[in-house]
Amino acid sequence: TQLLKHAETQPIQKTAIVDIKSNASRSYRDLVSDISSFRSKLLKESFNHDLNEKRVAFLCPSGYDYVVSQWSIWSAGGISVPLCTTHPQSELLYVLKDSQASTVITHPDFYDKIKDVAKDAGINNLMIVGDKGQRYSDYDGMNYKPPSIIPMKESRRALIIYTSGTTGKPKGVVLTHSNIMAQVLPLIEIWRWSDKDRILHVLPLHHMHGILNALTCAIYAGATVEMSPKFDAAKVWDRWMSPERNLSLFMAVPTIYSKLIQHYKNNIPDELKPKATESFSQFRLMISGSAALPRPIRNTWKEISGGQILLERYGMSEIGMALSHEYEEKKRFEGCVGSPLPGVQIRLISEDGKNVTNLNEVPGEIQVKGLNVFKEYWNKPEATQKEFTQDGWFKTGDIAIRTKKENVFKVLGRSSVDIIKSGGYKISALEIERELLSHPNILDVCVLGVEDLEWGQKIGAIVVLQNKELKMDLKVLKEFSKGKLANYKIPSLLKVIEGIPKNAMGKVNKKELVKLFKQ
Ligand code: ATP
Ligand code: MG
Repeated sequence: TQLLKHAETQPIQKTAIVDIKSNASRSYRDLVSDISSFRSKLLKESFNHDLNEKRVAFLCPSGYDYVVSQWSIWSAGGISVPLCTTHPQSELLYVLKDSQASTVITHPDFYDKIKDVAKDAGINNLMIVGDKGQRYSDYDGMNYKPPSIIPMKESRRALIIYTSGTTGKPKGVVLTHSNIMAQVLPLIEIWRWSDKDRILHVLPLHHMHGILNALTCAIYAGATVEMSPKFDAAKVWDRWMSPERNLSLFMAVPTIYSKLIQHYKNNIPDELKPKATESFSQFRLMISGSAALPRPIRNTWKEISGGQILLERYGMSEIGMALSHEYEEKKRFEGCVGSPLPGVQIRLISEDGKNVTNLNEVPGEIQVKGLNVFKEYWNKPEATQKEFTQDGWFKTGDIAIRTKKENVFKVLGRSSVDIIKSGGYKISALEIERELLSHPNILDVCVLGVEDLEWGQKIGAIVVLQNKELKMDLKVLKEFSKGKLANYKIPSLLKVIEGIPKNAMGKVNKKELVKLFKQ
């Protein structure tokens, strides 16, 4: 496949993957030859030597075997369906059935978890990858003969990613090889990926962010990826502060940055804090996305890193990345997500259907066109049709403005849950969340619209406190908000809870959470 183009030309010893769990380093030569032989295994059962868009689901911890599985499926002409290692069996079953997978690849660690689920889904073909750390090929590390991996036809379907399910049942987003290329290439360009890069990968691998931005870009660029099976703040700090200061890139969701900050504050002793700060000098770029980056996280990060400003970007499973801050640090404006990526067309459509072209900060729905846009929702033709305009633009359901001053995009939130309609106003929950988070005793917050006969919706705030001893009630909250938020944006309902439930990508299900106000 095209996606291995650079991998195949990397020098013999160049490390592709550091598998942190098994403490093994694998070179690009290992990788290409293992992909080639696992591909043959996959094809054995296929008469025409081409999986021909059959769905192959796979469940592997983040590590070398994941990469071998993913690229083998691609190069065998199948559609890969990455499964989430932390999903309960019921959700795995949903994905296996919905995608109509015919084969499941699993790692020994997850064999017990998946075997009955596969059976329930009517799948008999269960393959094991990476048993006892064995290699798949007989490549001895010396006489390298490049295997013949035939490039896939670009129009082929390659991948089904299930959306986070923030607003309903997860939908299977189908991406073709050409969609993936159109998503990878602009990121290589604007984030300046090269084979000199080394990324510490801590994201789940069933989702756009971890699969595409962090892993596929790295492999395409011929970079080195250190893969850890799950995020652990202490281990991340240990790795950063180890003598080997050779990482160059890091990507995460805001909750991960928040956990890293908590760990720094509470667990790194004061005398080691300067060393922690010094360790940031190895990084050329740190990126945040998948959800809005709260201002306190951005600011604290800048403080503890000795000046690094997180680069924020906006994207979704259906379109890959669409908007990104510029590489230049001083253009990474707070609360904004930058400008369209090269090759990605963006327009804002206001509620009355007009194309918002002026700079009057009129809100509109983000609509997207380009080769990056997905082909279809798997087996859901009506849903697919519903999400496109007649002239072929994908409707993201996210509302944004273009800022007057810097002419960059600012996301206000999802029209379904983040835009609160109260007393004739349309209010961005994200904007209120940003302000409330600057309260020293508010650790986390979720703002949402609560149905109300008089107001249409009332603004509800759900907060998690830093220090439970200190008083927090509506009066305190209102007092704090005065002068920061217009009166009609100040919450009139409050709940204090222990922690805000989030999914693997740090996303909050507001349709569920609003029930707290209905009890
Ligand atoms: P579902 O479609 O099943 O409800 P989901 O939309 O959360 O789930 P994803 O495709 O993973 O699934 O997430 C994309 C969404 O994440 C975007 O539509 C947007 O609302 C949000 N998002 C991503 N990046 C940002 C960002 N930088 N700022 C604000 N929101 C973001
Ligand atoms: Mg979505």
